[in-house]
Amino acid sequence: MRAVILENNTLSNATDYPSPNARGDEVLVRVLRAGVCETDLQLIRGYMGFSGVLGHEFVGVAESGPFKGRRVVGEINCSCWTCATCRAGRPSHCPTRSVIGILNHDGAFADFIAVPQRNLHVVPDSMPDDVAVFTEPVAAAFQIPAQIAIDERARVVVLGDGRLGNLCAQVLARLSSNVTVVGKHAEKLALLNRPSRGHYGITTTLLADIEPSHDADIVVDCTGSPTGLPTALSLVRPRGTIVLKTTVAGEQTMALAPIVIDEVTIVGSRCGPFDRALKALAAEEVSVLPLISARYTLSEGVAALEHARSRPALKVLIDVE
Ligand SMILES: [Zn+2]
Ligand SMILES: [Zn+2]
Repeated sequence: MRAVILENNTLSNATDYPSPNARGDEVLVRVLRAGVCETDLQLIRGYMGFSGVLGHEFVGVAESGPFKGRRVVGEINCSCWTCATCRAGRPSHCPTRSVIGILNHDGAFADFIAVPQRNLHVVPDSMPDDVAVFTEPVAAAFQIPAQIAIDERARVVVLGDGRLGNLCAQVLARLSSNVTVVGKHAEKLALLNRPSRGHYGITTTLLADIEPSHDADIVVDCTGSPTGLPTALSLVRPRGTIVLKTTVAGEQTMALAPIVIDEVTIVGSRCGPFDRALKALAAEEVSVLPLISARYTLSEGVAALEHARSRPALKVLIDVE
């Protein structure tokens, strides 16, 4: 089958990659569309030392199992469901898990992918593939209110005007009337200024224009950059909360004393609830189509990732059909 593979930090478009064998409770899914994510770009730079088929944002058709013939999206953590961590209700932290397209499990930039049946969610018939492919990142955005309480008056700052920053801001602007997105790109920030259904409205500011204010209740770092956390610390108020949404490859050096002195809570935040994300997408609570900035065929997968890496693109899609 066709697949975009990463080997020794080198990307290539394969045409003869072996189709996955669905093992145990896994189901073969024929991929229809996949999305390029910041994590894919970090993996190419060496994060997690991954090798194999990239891609973890996808919509496809189940080829077997109870959902056979239906369109599905899939949660990315493949957990054992028997260890103490899984039984304690934290399967996304299973110590022996694999993660689709990220850790020991081939991903979705391919004609087929093997996904555990229990990870799958059926996509409503009325939802276009271009919307359903956003389920995974929208779920990640919904993980923030799943982890911390957000008051209507909370002053929330989202750092980063990229794909994830945009989605997090849209989700948080339904809860707080005081959401500001800080970014480097006027054209990406402009996408957030549109009035949207059920939102309080989002304020935007260029990174160059902000000052260390120490007055935000919650700062969400979606920058994927080593400068994100220091910037967040300059904006959060004493006893405020910083939510780290993006991973950064490599080591980070910064003084941690301000976290102690200001008694700042730091919350790591990763994968979120797919059912909530599908509901929000079906109800158009979150608008995703304006984020699509380019699309490539699967055979052009390397070019799709290069586009996402080198240009100020929001969401690059890969059409697999
Ligand atoms: Zn992702
Ligand atoms: Zn487990």
